[in-house]
Amino acid sequence: MSAMSLKELQHLKKRGAILKHIQDRVPNFKIVQKKDSPLMKLLSFFLFFNKRFMTGYITTIYPNIYVPSWWGRRHKKWNSIELETLAHEYIHLYDRKRLGWLFNVLYLSPQIFALLAFGAIWNLWWLLCLLFLLPLPSPGRTWLEFRAHKVGLLVRYWTLCDYKNKTEEKYWNFINSDGVNWTIRQFSSSIHYYMFPFEGFLRKCFINSLKDVKMNNKLSSEMNEIRNILLD
Ligand SMILES: [Zn+2]
Repeated sequence: MSAMSLKELQHLKKRGAILKHIQDRVPNFKIVQKKDSPLMKLLSFFLFFNKRFMTGYITTIYPNIYVPSWWGRRHKKWNSIELETLAHEYIHLYDRKRLGWLFNVLYLSPQIFALLAFGAIWNLWWLLCLLFLLPLPSPGRTWLEFRAHKVGLLVRYWTLCDYKNKTEEKYWNFINSDGVNWTIRQFSSSIHYYMFPFEGFLRKCFINSLKDVKMNNKLSSEMNEIRNILLD
């Protein structure tokens, strides 16, 4: 067996273990193809500003993860992205399960308050609520995505350290520089409707939070579950 196929086997084993973990923790969890989902087609209509919604992004709506057609078909091009994505989406499912509908309100606020414009039936001043549709920063969405992206970065680190026999320090620096830079752009761009444009502040938050994991082993239980699967 070549070294490459051994790595690939390790990757598949870990992917299977994470999927099983999600299945055990999230009742009725399924992975659904976006192109087969009327709900995703409807969402892509409303998310017109995100041109690659159907083909470039994975979307989680409890209890399912919706994937583009390329998902799971990368054959030998194994890498940590699939594992990062599954861990990221698991955190969303975990949060949605414990917070219930509060998760949805936090995630969709403040834009969801535009629905109050229906109050215009009684008084036209309620139409002002349409201003909530503007790309205003979203502390709720930022907090939820911060947790999910943090685990994504850590999964990349754990996976790279495990698959490649090089210095751990190099991978730690990689997730703290390139990794964090890529991540904060997900917060300040249209991908999540400009949820947090303050990149410098966010970079500090990520770096401090990652440091706390490395120095003080500060990791919440659901993130620890993922670490135990990957470093098993
Ligand atoms: Zn997310």
